[in-house]
Amino acid sequence: HQSVTGHLKRDSNPRTTREQDLEDVIQKSKKIGLKAIVAVAEDAGEFDKIIQICERFPGFVFPCLGVHPVQGSPPQQERGATLQDLDAALPLIEKYKDHLVAIGEVGLDFTPRIVNTDKGKEEQRQVLIQQAGIAKRLDLPLNVHSRSAGRPTIQLLKEQGVQKALLHAFDGKPSVAMEGVKAGYFFSIPPSIIRSEQQKLVQQLPLENICLETDSPALGPEKQVRNEPQNITIAAEYIAKVKGVPLETVMETTTQNALKLFPRLKLLL
Ligand SMILES: [Zn+2]
Repeated sequence: HQSVTGHLKRDSNPRTTREQDLEDVIQKSKKIGLKAIVAVAEDAGEFDKIIQICERFPGFVFPCLGVHPVQGSPPQQERGATLQDLDAALPLIEKYKDHLVAIGEVGLDFTPRIVNTDKGKEEQRQVLIQQAGIAKRLDLPLNVHSRSAGRPTIQLLKEQGVQKALLHAFDGKPSVAMEGVKAGYFFSIPPSIIRSEQQKLVQQLPLENICLETDSPALGPEKQVRNEPQNITIAAEYIAKVKGVPLETVMETTTQNALKLFPRLKLLL
């Protein structure tokens, strides 16, 4: 009875092939009771691969495509998203639009290492605004990343009239998150919550606005260890403990929330 949004990327485990590794990750997540996985893109270069993975696991892995506010890798080459990055993504979003369950990851990341000028921040805003427009046109929810930009992100979503949004791994103040709750937005909690400073956020968010995510391979329970969808249970158990409700209640409610947020998932499952 669980739902998850996260990134499914392949790694280079030398003991197995990548294909076998992916198969194992999917099997383990089914075993713990996951009903669906949303595979989330960060840049246009990943879109085809994500669609291939979703086609390989029909009815279980679903695609979410969008341009993340941080582009470029490895870490030294990370930079803020530009309209050129969006231009590269637009034809592919159009091509795959009928398969998507959401547009994302999109958002704002004002980490100084990523962006340190007003111009850079404004460009991230424009990339987000355009994708909010696409989501509206396609009647899809937005899967939103925000880092060091909680308040401006929620403000922008509200200004743009966004009605369906998931704020993933939100690092802003609980009071700012509650502004999002008022707008009907959902907040997803990753397994890294057990080692994060955002525990007050879980206390304050109503269970009716919480979803589960893993953000695999990032945001696992242990730093620097690859995260996997099966770790979703760690986030669920943590929420149950903080809220003082049975684990079953957390699983059931977050599943219902995910189905509300991703209406296409409901049709496809
Ligand atoms: Zn993110």
